[in-house]
Amino acid sequence: MNVKLENLDTDFKEILAKLPSLAQGFGYRIYVVGGVVRDLILANDIFDLDIVVEGDAITLARAFAQNSKKEFKKHHAFGTATVYFDRHSIDFATARKETYSSCGVLPKVYRASLREDLLRRDFTINAMAISLNSSDYGTLIDFYSGLADLEKRVIRVLHKKSFLDDPTRLLRAIRFAQRFSFKIEKNTARLIEEAVKREALQCVHPHRLRDELILILKEPRPEKCIRAINSMMGFSFVDDSLRLIGKDYVIFGRLKNALSFYQKNFPHCRKLDAWVMYLTAMLYKLSSKRVEHFLRIFDFRKGDRVRVLSTFYERTVIQRLSKPQKRHIIYRALNDLSFESIMFFYAFFRNKQIRSSINIFLKTLAHLRLKVKGDDLKGLGIKPHTIYGKILEKLLDDKLDMSLATKDEEMRRAVVIAERLSTEK
Ligand code: ATP
Repeated sequence: MNVKLENLDTDFKEILAKLPSLAQGFGYRIYVVGGVVRDLILANDIFDLDIVVEGDAITLARAFAQNSKKEFKKHHAFGTATVYFDRHSIDFATARKETYSSCGVLPKVYRASLREDLLRRDFTINAMAISLNSSDYGTLIDFYSGLADLEKRVIRVLHKKSFLDDPTRLLRAIRFAQRFSFKIEKNTARLIEEAVKREALQCVHPHRLRDELILILKEPRPEKCIRAINSMMGFSFVDDSLRLIGKDYVIFGRLKNALSFYQKNFPHCRKLDAWVMYLTAMLYKLSSKRVEHFLRIFDFRKGDRVRVLSTFYERTVIQRLSKPQKRHIIYRALNDLSFESIMFFYAFFRNKQIRSSINIFLKTLAHLRLKVKGDDLKGLGIKPHTIYGKILEKLLDDKLDMSLATKDEEMRRAVVIAERLSTEK
Protein backbone atom coordinates (compact mmCIF):
# COMPACT_ATOMS: atom_id res chain seq x y z
CA MET A 1 0.00 0.00 0.00
CA ASN A 2 1.14 3.55 -0.74
CA VAL A 3 0.36 6.25 1.83
CA LYS A 4 -0.51 9.63 0.38
CA LEU A 5 2.21 11.93 1.71
CA GLU A 6 0.75 14.71 -0.47
CA ASN A 7 -1.93 15.18 2.19
CA LEU A 8 0.67 16.61 4.53
CA ASP A 9 0.87 20.31 5.33
CA THR A 10 2.93 22.40 2.82
CA ASP A 11 5.77 22.81 5.35
CA PHE A 12 6.15 19.06 5.54
CA LYS A 13 6.06 18.71 1.78
CA GLU A 14 9.03 21.07 1.49
CA ILE A 15 10.83 19.06 4.14
CA LEU A 16 10.14 15.76 2.46
CA ALA A 17 11.32 17.13 -0.86
CA LYS A 18 14.82 17.73 0.57
CA LEU A 19 15.35 15.00 3.14
CA PRO A 20 15.51 11.80 1.02
CA SER A 21 18.34 12.97 -1.25
CA LEU A 22 20.28 14.27 1.75
CA ALA A 23 19.93 10.87 3.49
CA GLN A 24 20.88 9.06 0.31
CA GLY A 25 24.08 11.15 0.16
CA PHE A 26 25.09 9.67 3.53
CA GLY A 27 24.07 6.17 2.45
CA TYR A 28 21.23 6.12 5.04
CA ARG A 29 17.71 4.78 4.69
CA ILE A 30 14.95 6.83 6.33
CA TYR A 31 11.33 6.28 7.32
CA VAL A 32 8.40 8.16 8.80
CA VAL A 33 7.33 6.07 11.81
CA GLY A 34 4.97 5.64 14.73
CA GLY A 35 1.83 7.60 15.51
CA VAL A 36 2.37 9.84 12.49
CA VAL A 37 1.82 6.89 10.14
CA ARG A 38 -1.30 5.90 12.06
CA ASP A 39 -2.63 9.46 11.84
CA LEU A 40 -1.79 9.76 8.14
CA ILE A 41 -3.82 6.62 7.44
CA LEU A 42 -6.67 7.90 9.62
CA ALA A 43 -6.40 11.28 7.81
CA ASN A 44 -5.87 13.11 11.11
CA ASP A 45 -3.90 16.35 11.36
CA ILE A 46 -0.14 15.96 11.72
CA PHE A 47 1.84 18.44 13.81
CA ASP A 48 5.25 16.83 14.17
CA LEU A 49 7.12 14.17 12.24
CA ASP A 50 9.10 11.22 13.64
CA ILE A 51 11.85 9.97 11.35
CA VAL A 52 13.80 6.78 11.95
CA VAL A 53 17.20 6.58 10.31
CA GLU A 54 19.06 3.41 9.44
CA GLY A 55 22.31 5.32 9.90
CA ASP A 56 23.33 8.12 12.25
CA ALA A 57 20.27 10.24 13.09
CA ILE A 58 22.25 13.09 14.61
CA THR A 59 24.52 13.49 11.58
CA LEU A 60 21.50 13.59 9.28
CA ALA A 61 19.51 15.97 11.50
CA ARG A 62 22.46 18.35 11.82
CA ALA A 63 23.05 18.40 8.05
CA PHE A 64 19.35 18.88 7.42
CA ALA A 65 19.11 21.78 9.92
CA GLN A 66 22.13 23.49 8.33
CA ASN A 67 20.72 22.97 4.87
CA SER A 68 17.30 24.38 5.87
CA LYS A 69 18.76 27.08 8.17
CA LYS A 70 16.69 25.82 11.10
CA GLU A 71 17.33 25.32 14.78
CA PHE A 72 18.72 21.94 15.77
CA LYS A 73 18.86 20.27 19.19
CA LYS A 74 20.64 17.07 20.14
CA HIS A 75 19.20 14.92 22.97
CA HIS A 76 22.27 13.10 24.29
CA ALA A 77 20.45 10.66 26.54
CA PHE A 78 18.57 9.06 23.65
CA GLY A 79 20.88 9.69 20.67
CA THR A 80 18.07 11.60 18.99
CA ALA A 81 17.78 15.11 17.60
CA THR A 82 15.03 17.58 16.76
CA VAL A 83 14.90 20.17 13.99
CA TYR A 84 12.47 23.02 14.62
CA PHE A 85 10.40 24.64 11.88
CA ASP A 86 8.02 27.58 12.38
CA ARG A 87 4.94 25.55 13.19
CA HIS A 88 6.29 22.03 13.39
CA SER A 89 9.25 20.00 14.52
CA ILE A 90 10.89 16.83 13.24
CA ASP A 91 12.41 14.22 15.54
CA PHE A 92 15.22 12.08 14.15
CA ALA A 93 16.16 8.80 15.83
CA THR A 94 18.60 6.10 14.86
CA ALA A 95 16.80 2.77 14.40
CA ARG A 96 17.24 0.93 17.70
CA LYS A 97 16.20 -2.05 19.74
CA GLU A 98 15.78 -2.08 23.48
CA THR A 99 16.28 -4.60 26.25
CA TYR A 100 14.71 -4.25 29.70
CA SER A 101 16.61 -5.60 32.71
CA SER A 102 13.64 -5.35 35.06
CA CYS A 103 10.08 -4.07 35.17
CA GLY A 104 9.66 -0.34 34.68
CA VAL A 105 13.33 0.66 34.36
CA LEU A 106 14.54 2.51 31.28
CA PRO A 107 15.84 0.11 28.63
CA LYS A 108 19.35 -0.49 27.30
CA VAL A 109 19.44 0.69 23.72
CA TYR A 110 21.32 -0.81 20.72
CA ARG A 111 21.48 0.11 17.05
CA ALA A 112 19.17 -2.09 15.00
CA SER A 113 17.21 -2.48 11.79
CA LEU A 114 13.88 -0.80 11.09
CA ARG A 115 12.09 -4.09 11.74
CA GLU A 116 13.59 -4.31 15.25
CA ASP A 117 12.89 -0.65 15.87
CA LEU A 118 9.23 -1.19 15.08
CA LEU A 119 9.09 -4.30 17.27
CA ARG A 120 10.03 -2.27 20.40
CA ARG A 121 6.98 -0.04 20.00
CA ASP A 122 3.87 -0.03 22.15
CA PHE A 123 1.03 -1.15 19.87
CA THR A 124 0.69 -2.50 16.35
CA ILE A 125 -1.15 0.64 15.19
CA ASN A 126 1.91 2.68 16.28
CA ALA A 127 4.42 0.28 14.76
CA MET A 128 4.12 1.07 11.06
CA ALA A 129 6.52 3.03 8.87
CA ILE A 130 6.48 4.77 5.50
CA SER A 131 9.59 4.58 3.37
CA LEU A 132 11.14 7.88 2.26
CA ASN A 133 13.72 6.13 0.11
CA SER A 134 13.78 6.58 -3.64
CA SER A 135 13.42 2.84 -4.40
CA ASP A 136 10.04 2.56 -2.62
CA TYR A 137 9.09 6.13 -1.62
CA GLY A 138 5.68 6.31 0.09
CA THR A 139 5.34 2.53 0.64
CA LEU A 140 3.74 1.44 3.89
CA ILE A 141 5.92 -0.95 5.89
CA ASP A 142 3.73 -3.00 8.17
CA PHE A 143 5.53 -6.00 9.69
CA TYR A 144 3.10 -6.41 12.59
CA SER A 145 -0.37 -6.01 11.00
CA GLY A 146 -0.95 -2.48 12.23
CA LEU A 147 -3.12 -1.64 9.24
CA ALA A 148 -5.39 -4.65 9.85
CA ASP A 149 -5.71 -3.60 13.52
CA LEU A 150 -6.53 -0.03 12.49
CA GLU A 151 -9.27 -1.42 10.28
CA LYS A 152 -10.49 -3.74 13.05
CA ARG A 153 -10.25 -0.79 15.45
CA VAL A 154 -8.21 -2.63 18.05
CA ILE A 155 -5.28 -1.88 20.33
CA ARG A 156 -2.84 -4.80 20.37
CA VAL A 157 0.63 -5.15 21.88
CA LEU A 158 3.46 -6.63 19.84
CA HIS A 159 4.59 -9.26 22.35
CA LYS A 160 3.47 -10.71 25.64
CA LYS A 161 6.09 -9.02 27.88
CA SER A 162 5.20 -5.57 26.58
CA PHE A 163 3.38 -4.22 29.68
CA LEU A 164 5.97 -5.66 32.07
CA ASP A 165 8.84 -4.16 30.06
CA ASP A 166 7.20 -0.76 30.16
CA PRO A 167 4.06 -0.47 32.32
CA THR A 168 3.40 3.09 31.12
CA ARG A 169 1.95 1.25 28.11
CA LEU A 170 -0.98 0.31 30.38
CA LEU A 171 -1.93 3.98 30.46
CA ARG A 172 -1.11 4.46 26.80
CA ALA A 173 -3.41 1.55 25.85
CA ILE A 174 -6.28 3.27 27.61
CA ARG A 175 -5.43 6.64 26.07
CA PHE A 176 -5.43 5.38 22.49
CA ALA A 177 -8.44 3.11 23.00
CA GLN A 178 -10.50 6.03 24.33
CA ARG A 179 -9.21 8.56 21.81
CA PHE A 180 -10.08 6.46 18.78
CA SER A 181 -12.96 4.53 20.39
CA PHE A 182 -11.02 1.31 19.71
CA LYS A 183 -11.36 -1.92 21.67
CA ILE A 184 -8.46 -3.43 23.53
CA GLU A 185 -7.83 -6.76 21.80
CA LYS A 186 -8.64 -9.84 23.94
CA ASN A 187 -5.14 -11.13 24.52
CA THR A 188 -3.87 -7.60 25.18
CA ALA A 189 -6.67 -7.13 27.73
CA ARG A 190 -5.58 -10.36 29.43
CA LEU A 191 -1.96 -9.12 29.54
CA ILE A 192 -3.21 -5.88 31.09
CA GLU A 193 -4.98 -7.85 33.82
CA GLU A 194 -1.85 -9.85 34.48
CA ALA A 195 0.34 -6.74 34.67
CA VAL A 196 -2.16 -5.07 37.01
CA LYS A 197 -2.16 -8.16 39.27
CA ARG A 198 1.61 -7.90 39.42
CA GLU A 199 1.25 -4.21 40.34
CA ALA A 200 3.41 -3.27 37.37
CA LEU A 201 2.60 0.46 37.56
CA GLN A 202 4.10 0.62 41.06
CA CYS A 203 7.59 0.01 39.71
CA VAL A 204 7.57 2.88 37.21
CA HIS A 205 9.33 6.11 38.11
CA PRO A 206 6.66 8.66 39.14
CA HIS A 207 7.98 11.18 36.60
CA ARG A 208 7.10 8.84 33.74
CA LEU A 209 3.66 8.17 35.24
CA ARG A 210 3.14 11.91 35.61
CA ASP A 211 3.95 12.53 31.94
CA GLU A 212 1.50 9.84 30.83
CA LEU A 213 -1.15 11.13 33.21
CA ILE A 214 -0.81 14.65 31.81
CA LEU A 215 -1.20 13.30 28.27
CA ILE A 216 -4.38 11.52 29.38
CA LEU A 217 -5.74 14.68 30.98
CA LYS A 218 -5.04 16.58 27.76
CA GLU A 219 -7.16 14.20 25.68
CA PRO A 220 -10.43 15.70 24.40
CA ARG A 221 -12.47 13.42 26.72
CA PRO A 222 -10.22 12.74 29.72
CA GLU A 223 -13.07 11.47 31.88
CA LYS A 224 -13.44 8.46 29.57
CA CYS A 225 -9.81 7.53 30.25
CA ILE A 226 -10.21 8.16 33.97
CA ARG A 227 -13.21 5.83 34.08
CA ALA A 228 -11.26 3.16 32.19
CA ILE A 229 -8.23 3.48 34.49
CA ASN A 230 -10.48 3.28 37.55
CA SER A 231 -12.15 0.11 36.36
CA MET A 232 -9.19 -1.64 34.70
CA MET A 233 -6.30 -0.86 37.03
CA GLY A 234 -7.44 1.45 39.80
CA PHE A 235 -5.60 4.54 41.00
CA SER A 236 -3.33 3.00 43.62
CA PHE A 237 -0.36 4.25 41.57
CA VAL A 238 -1.60 7.76 42.43
CA ASP A 239 -2.83 7.18 45.99
CA ASP A 240 -3.77 4.01 47.86
CA SER A 241 -7.11 5.40 48.96
CA LEU A 242 -8.24 6.85 45.61
CA ARG A 243 -11.28 5.03 44.23
CA LEU A 244 -13.88 6.76 42.09
CA ILE A 245 -17.57 5.88 42.07
CA GLY A 246 -20.51 6.98 39.89
CA LYS A 247 -21.18 10.38 41.42
CA ASP A 248 -17.49 11.35 41.33
CA TYR A 249 -17.72 11.65 37.56
CA VAL A 250 -20.44 14.31 37.59
CA ILE A 251 -17.83 17.05 37.94
CA PHE A 252 -16.20 16.09 34.63
CA GLY A 253 -19.34 16.89 32.65
CA ARG A 254 -19.72 20.14 34.54
CA LEU A 255 -16.10 21.05 33.86
CA LYS A 256 -16.68 20.53 30.16
CA ASN A 257 -19.65 22.93 30.26
CA ALA A 258 -17.71 25.44 32.36
CA LEU A 259 -14.84 25.35 29.87
CA SER A 260 -17.09 26.15 26.90
CA PHE A 261 -18.86 28.85 28.95
CA TYR A 262 -15.46 30.42 29.67
CA GLN A 263 -14.33 30.24 26.05
CA LYS A 264 -17.52 31.88 24.84
CA ASN A 265 -17.87 34.58 27.48
CA PHE A 266 -14.33 35.56 28.40
CA PRO A 267 -12.35 35.53 25.16
CA HIS A 268 -10.19 38.37 26.56
CA CYS A 269 -9.00 36.14 29.44
CA ARG A 270 -6.03 33.82 28.96
CA LYS A 271 -6.56 30.28 27.67
CA LEU A 272 -7.16 27.76 30.45
CA ASP A 273 -5.03 24.68 31.02
CA ALA A 274 -8.02 22.37 31.16
CA TRP A 275 -5.84 19.42 32.17
CA VAL A 276 -5.03 21.09 35.51
CA MET A 277 -8.77 21.32 36.21
CA TYR A 278 -9.31 17.68 35.25
CA LEU A 279 -6.43 16.65 37.51
CA THR A 280 -8.04 18.59 40.37
CA ALA A 281 -11.33 16.81 39.68
CA MET A 282 -9.63 13.43 39.66
CA LEU A 283 -8.02 14.09 43.04
CA TYR A 284 -10.90 15.97 44.63
CA LYS A 285 -11.89 13.21 47.06
CA LEU A 286 -8.46 13.19 48.67
CA SER A 287 -7.43 15.37 51.58
CA SER A 288 -5.24 18.35 50.73
CA LYS A 289 -2.38 16.61 52.58
CA ARG A 290 -2.60 13.53 50.33
CA VAL A 291 -2.81 15.73 47.24
CA GLU A 292 0.24 17.69 48.36
CA HIS A 293 2.13 14.43 48.84
CA PHE A 294 1.13 13.12 45.41
CA LEU A 295 2.08 16.35 43.62
CA ARG A 296 5.46 16.36 45.35
CA ILE A 297 6.30 12.70 44.66
CA PHE A 298 5.24 13.03 41.02
CA ASP A 299 7.26 16.24 40.85
CA PHE A 300 4.67 18.38 39.08
CA ARG A 301 5.95 21.84 38.14
CA LYS A 302 5.57 24.44 40.84
CA GLY A 303 2.99 26.47 38.92
CA ASP A 304 0.86 23.36 38.36
CA ARG A 305 1.14 22.30 42.01
CA VAL A 306 0.03 25.73 43.17
CA ARG A 307 -2.94 25.78 40.81
CA VAL A 308 -4.18 22.40 42.01
CA LEU A 309 -3.50 22.97 45.69
CA SER A 310 -5.02 26.44 45.90
CA THR A 311 -8.30 24.89 44.71
CA PHE A 312 -8.12 22.51 47.67
CA TYR A 313 -7.18 25.18 50.21
CA GLU A 314 -9.73 27.74 49.07
CA ARG A 315 -12.76 25.47 48.66
CA THR A 316 -14.30 26.56 51.96
CA VAL A 317 -13.38 30.24 51.59
CA ILE A 318 -15.20 30.41 48.26
CA GLN A 319 -18.45 29.53 49.99
CA ARG A 320 -18.49 33.07 51.40
CA LEU A 321 -19.58 34.07 47.92
CA SER A 322 -22.81 32.13 48.22
CA LYS A 323 -24.32 35.29 49.77
CA PRO A 324 -24.43 38.67 47.99
CA GLN A 325 -21.15 40.45 48.67
CA LYS A 326 -19.59 43.80 47.90
CA ARG A 327 -17.41 43.77 44.81
CA HIS A 328 -14.19 44.22 46.79
CA ILE A 329 -14.96 41.04 48.80
CA ILE A 330 -15.49 39.13 45.55
CA TYR A 331 -12.23 40.55 44.25
CA ARG A 332 -10.26 39.64 47.38
CA ALA A 333 -11.71 36.10 47.40
CA LEU A 334 -10.81 35.37 43.78
CA ASN A 335 -7.94 37.58 42.77
CA ASP A 336 -5.14 35.37 44.14
CA LEU A 337 -6.57 32.26 42.52
CA SER A 338 -5.67 30.97 39.08
CA PHE A 339 -8.38 31.14 36.42
CA GLU A 340 -8.26 27.32 36.45
CA SER A 341 -9.23 27.26 40.16
CA ILE A 342 -11.91 29.88 39.62
CA MET A 343 -13.51 27.98 36.76
CA PHE A 344 -13.20 24.74 38.72
CA PHE A 345 -15.30 26.37 41.44
CA TYR A 346 -17.72 27.65 38.81
CA ALA A 347 -18.25 24.05 37.72
CA PHE A 348 -18.25 22.59 41.21
CA PHE A 349 -20.62 24.98 42.98
CA ARG A 350 -24.00 25.22 41.33
CA ASN A 351 -24.98 28.03 43.68
CA LYS A 352 -26.27 30.93 41.54
CA GLN A 353 -24.69 33.60 43.75
CA ILE A 354 -21.22 32.02 43.57
CA ARG A 355 -21.50 31.69 39.80
CA SER A 356 -22.68 35.26 39.37
CA SER A 357 -19.76 36.53 41.53
CA ILE A 358 -17.31 34.59 39.36
CA ASN A 359 -18.96 36.02 36.27
CA ILE A 360 -18.60 39.60 37.56
CA PHE A 361 -15.01 38.94 38.56
CA LEU A 362 -13.93 37.56 35.18
CA LYS A 363 -15.90 40.13 33.17
CA THR A 364 -14.72 43.25 34.93
CA LEU A 365 -13.04 43.04 38.31
CA ALA A 366 -10.04 40.90 37.28
CA HIS A 367 -8.97 43.53 34.75
CA LEU A 368 -9.51 46.62 36.86
CA ARG A 369 -6.33 48.63 37.60
CA LEU A 370 -5.83 51.82 39.61
CA LYS A 371 -4.89 54.89 37.61
CA VAL A 372 -3.31 56.49 40.69
CA LYS A 373 0.22 55.33 41.51
CA GLY A 374 2.54 55.94 44.50
CA ASP A 375 4.08 58.96 42.73
CA ASP A 376 0.63 60.58 42.54
CA LEU A 377 0.25 60.21 46.32
CA LYS A 378 3.66 61.83 46.73
CA GLY A 379 2.52 64.68 44.46
CA LEU A 380 -0.49 65.19 46.75
CA GLY A 381 1.92 65.66 49.66
CA ILE A 382 0.62 62.61 51.53
CA LYS A 383 3.00 61.44 54.28
CA PRO A 384 4.51 59.13 55.35
CA HIS A 385 5.18 57.05 52.22
CA THR A 386 5.08 53.86 54.34
CA ILE A 387 1.26 54.05 54.27
CA TYR A 388 1.05 54.23 50.45
CA GLY A 389 0.58 50.46 50.16
CA LYS A 390 -2.36 50.56 52.54
CA ILE A 391 -3.88 53.61 50.80
CA LEU A 392 -3.64 51.98 47.38
CA GLU A 393 -5.19 48.77 48.72
CA LYS A 394 -8.14 50.64 50.22
CA LEU A 395 -8.41 52.81 47.13
CA LEU A 396 -8.71 49.71 44.97
CA ASP A 397 -11.47 48.37 47.27
CA ASP A 398 -13.31 51.70 46.95
CA LYS A 399 -12.80 51.79 43.18
CA LEU A 400 -14.36 48.32 43.01
CA ASP A 401 -17.33 49.22 45.23
CA MET A 402 -17.91 52.84 44.17
CA SER A 403 -16.95 52.58 40.48
CA LEU A 404 -14.43 55.44 40.52
CA ALA A 405 -13.98 55.96 36.80
CA THR A 406 -11.47 58.78 36.37
CA LYS A 407 -8.05 59.47 37.80
CA ASP A 408 -9.39 62.68 39.42
CA GLU A 409 -12.01 60.69 41.28
CA GLU A 410 -9.36 58.28 42.47
CA MET A 411 -7.12 61.17 43.62
CA ARG A 412 -9.94 62.74 45.64
CA ARG A 413 -10.75 59.40 47.21
CA ALA A 414 -7.06 58.79 48.03
CA VAL A 415 -7.00 62.04 50.03
CA VAL A 416 -10.08 60.95 52.03
CA ILE A 417 -8.51 57.54 52.74
CA ALA A 418 -5.19 59.11 53.78
CA GLU A 419 -6.99 61.46 56.19
CA ARG A 420 -8.98 58.60 57.65
CA LEU A 421 -5.86 56.48 58.13
CA SER A 422 -4.02 59.32 59.87
CA THR A 423 -6.89 59.89 62.34
CA GLU A 424 -7.13 56.12 62.98
CA LYS A 425 -3.46 56.05 64.11
P1 ATP B 1 0.16 11.15 20.12
O1 ATP B 1 -0.76 11.07 18.94
O2 ATP B 1 -0.54 11.24 21.42
O3 ATP B 1 1.29 12.14 19.97
P2 ATP B 1 2.03 9.08 19.39
O4 ATP B 1 1.62 7.72 18.93
O5 ATP B 1 2.59 10.00 18.35
O6 ATP B 1 0.84 9.71 20.18
P3 ATP B 1 4.32 9.56 21.07
O7 ATP B 1 4.29 9.47 22.55
O8 ATP B 1 4.54 10.86 20.41
O9 ATP B 1 3.02 8.82 20.57
O10 ATP B 1 5.43 8.54 20.59
C1 ATP B 1 5.72 8.33 19.21
C2 ATP B 1 5.85 6.86 18.93
O11 ATP B 1 6.87 6.30 19.74
C3 ATP B 1 4.60 6.04 19.25
O12 ATP B 1 3.68 6.08 18.19
C4 ATP B 1 5.19 4.66 19.46
O13 ATP B 1 5.52 4.06 18.23
C5 ATP B 1 6.51 4.99 20.17
N1 ATP B 1 6.35 4.98 21.64
C6 ATP B 1 6.11 6.04 22.45
N2 ATP B 1 6.07 5.66 23.73
C7 ATP B 1 6.28 4.35 23.76
C8 ATP B 1 6.37 3.38 24.78
N3 ATP B 1 6.19 3.70 26.06
N4 ATP B 1 6.64 2.10 24.41
C9 ATP B 1 6.83 1.78 23.12
N5 ATP B 1 6.76 2.63 22.11
C10 ATP B 1 6.49 3.90 22.40
